[in-house]
Amino acid sequence: MQIKNKFILDIRTGLNPCASRCRLCQLAHTKPSKITFDRFKSVINKFYEFKLSQKLDNMSFLFWDGYSLNSDIHEFSEMYSLHEKVGEWKMKALHLGGIHHMETDDIRKWLYDRKNIGSEYTSASYFGFGEDHNYWSNRKNDFQFLLDTQRIAAEIDLINEVHIFLLNSTLQNLPRLLETIDKNINNVRECIIFPPYYSGLARKYEKERLTSEQIMNLPITVKQYLRSDFKTWKTEKEWVEYVRLLKDSEKIRLNNSHFTIELNDKNIDYIESHSCEDILTDLFKRTFETYNQLPPISLLAEKYSDIYSDKVYMYMWDMESLWLDRYLKENPTDFERKLTYFGR
Ligand code: SF4
Repeated sequence: MQIKNKFILDIRTGLNPCASRCRLCQLAHTKPSKITFDRFKSVINKFYEFKLSQKLDNMSFLFWDGYSLNSDIHEFSEMYSLHEKVGEWKMKALHLGGIHHMETDDIRKWLYDRKNIGSEYTSASYFGFGEDHNYWSNRKNDFQFLLDTQRIAAEIDLINEVHIFLLNSTLQNLPRLLETIDKNINNVRECIIFPPYYSGLARKYEKERLTSEQIMNLPITVKQYLRSDFKTWKTEKEWVEYVRLLKDSEKIRLNNSHFTIELNDKNIDYIESHSCEDILTDLFKRTFETYNQLPPISLLAEKYSDIYSDKVYMYMWDMESLWLDRYLKENPTDFERKLTYFGR
């Protein structure tokens, strides 16, 4: 194995199907798989034991078994323990986006059971107020379900986090959404507003992205909830300038620190029957080759940007993903997108 620097092995699978069909889904590229949870768990343990036996202190893990943690309580508990043992983050959050709608008593029990295992807070994403949200989450009554669930969560002493997307078509009702959240949900430790990432299905909805002028002109009642890093968000024009000022060493993509295995029905037999060393050697090689197939950031910034665009993007990889999509339109390239950060 060639990697000396710190790296993350990211193992993921679409085991628990998501009950939503969000129009802006960031995870749409992960297809449902039929492998069992036990097989998934064995793969995590296999790599973890390999790390220990080889004393790979530079290796850390990320893993998830499906979109929404919407598994039964036994599996949830096992995942929780696995994260305690192996993971870099603990499963303290209950993401409400992909769980199926339940009656009040059932959702109370659902929350309570998971709190007893160790979960500490819920996290819900709102696309807008009422029917605006339901349109984007693509589910009837989803807005009311999220509000009710976070209200109940507070009643049983769970903390709540509220995330709100900035979209052109839902902008007008944002003050009403914030008032409603304020009136209906207690124990809110974080309520933040930010633009959609340029990833997954959201890539199709660039007309929903706000310009810097629109963001600056938001009413103060909305603006005060912009995510705290909003000063580092940039317009496309500014991202081009940013790339121009990077040193050569900073233009190299961080392609030697994050490696992804997406476990699915096709590769699970291979992963189970081969040594970790062989799997990782092949994964590293394919990942490097894939990044090498792609044009450098500076070329994307110079040739595939729109320097007149004032639309705002939060991260360099957001921006670069859009430039890459424009490049690929002109230069169709067969590459393993999921191995790269463009596969988010
Ligand atoms: S809840 Fe999450 S995974 Fe499910 S459709 Fe929405 S964004 Fe995608």
